[in-house]
Amino acid sequence: MADTVLAVASGKGGVGKTTTTVNLGTALATAGHRTVVVDADMGMANLAGFVSLGTDDATLHEVLAGDAPVKEATYRLTEGLFAVPSAPQLERYSQTDTEGLAVVVDTLQQAFDYVLLDVGAGVSHETVLPLGLADGVVLVSTPDPAAVQDTEKTLDLVGRAGGTVRGLVLTRVRSDHGTEIERIVDRVGHPLLAAIPEDDAVRESVSAGRPVVVHAPDGPAAEAYEELARTLVEGRDGQADAADAATDGAGRDGDETGDGEEAGSDDVSEALSDLEDGD
Ligand code: ADP
Ligand code: MG
Repeated sequence: MADTVLAVASGKGGVGKTTTTVNLGTALATAGHRTVVVDADMGMANLAGFVSLGTDDATLHEVLAGDAPVKEATYRLTEGLFAVPSAPQLERYSQTDTEGLAVVVDTLQQAFDYVLLDVGAGVSHETVLPLGLADGVVLVSTPDPAAVQDTEKTLDLVGRAGGTVRGLVLTRVRSDHGTEIERIVDRVGHPLLAAIPEDDAVRESVSAGRPVVVHAPDGPAAEAYEELARTLVEGRDGQADAADAATDGAGRDGDETGDGEEAGSDDVSEALSDLEDGD
C-alpha cells in the first residue's frame, strides 16, 4: 500500500501534531483500518496522556534501548487502534538509539494498515530520521506566520531526508482567516489536506484523555479530522473540500463510510507476535 507510514511533522512546536496524530489515527481505526500511533517525539513525549495511557511499562525508549521487543510497547487502545508511547522522563530518553526507529517502523508496517509517527518539532537528527522513513509526510501548521515560516524549514528537511510530502494540515483555523489560507497553501506549495477549525472541544478532550473525534464527534474539529482520514484513504489531495470547510466553518454530513475492511485486534496481536517470535 502507498501511504502506510505517515510522519506527522511541524517546524514549530505546539501547533497540533499530537492532536492530529491521535485523531487521524482514531478516525482511521473507526473506519476499519488497523492503525498504530507512535510517539516519535521522544524529547517532548506526551502522546500517552492524550489517550490515557501510562508509561510505567515498556515504551519506545525501552524498545530503542534494546530492552523490550516492539510488541511489548504496543498497547491496544480500542478496536483496531494501538499506540507505542514514549516516556516523558528525560533520563529514559538519553538511553535511546534513534537509528533503531527504522526497525520499529518496519515491524509495525507489517502488522498495520497505517503507522502514524508523531514527530518532534525542530531540526534535530531525531526529527529528520522519521521524515525519511515515512511513505509520506503530513505537515502540520497553524495559520500563524511564524509557524508557516518554520514549516518551510521542515519542507527543506523532508527533502534532505529523502522523504515525500503528502500535504498540509492547517490547525486552529478560524473563519476570519478567510483568504489567508489560500496564500499559505500557495506559499507552502503542497496540497491542503485539511483545515481543522479552532474548537474548544480539542482542549477539553485532552483533559479528558481521549481523542476529540470520540469526545465531541459532532464538533467542527472532529468532523474535519474524519474528513482528513477519508481524504488520505482515498488518496485525494483534499484541497477544495478543506478550503470550503475552513471558510464555512460548517460540518459536512459525513455519511460516507470506510471501505468496510474489518480486522479484529487479535489479528494484530498475532501478526505482532509472529514478527517478534523470529528474534
Ligand atoms: P504539538 O504536538 O504540535 O506540540 P498539540 O497537539 O499538543 O501540539 O497541540 C498544542 C495545543 O493546541 C494543545 O493545547 C491543543 O489542545 C491545542 N489545539 C490543537 N488543535 C486545536 C484546535 N483545532 N482547536 C483548539 N485548540 C487546539
Ligand atoms: Mg506533540
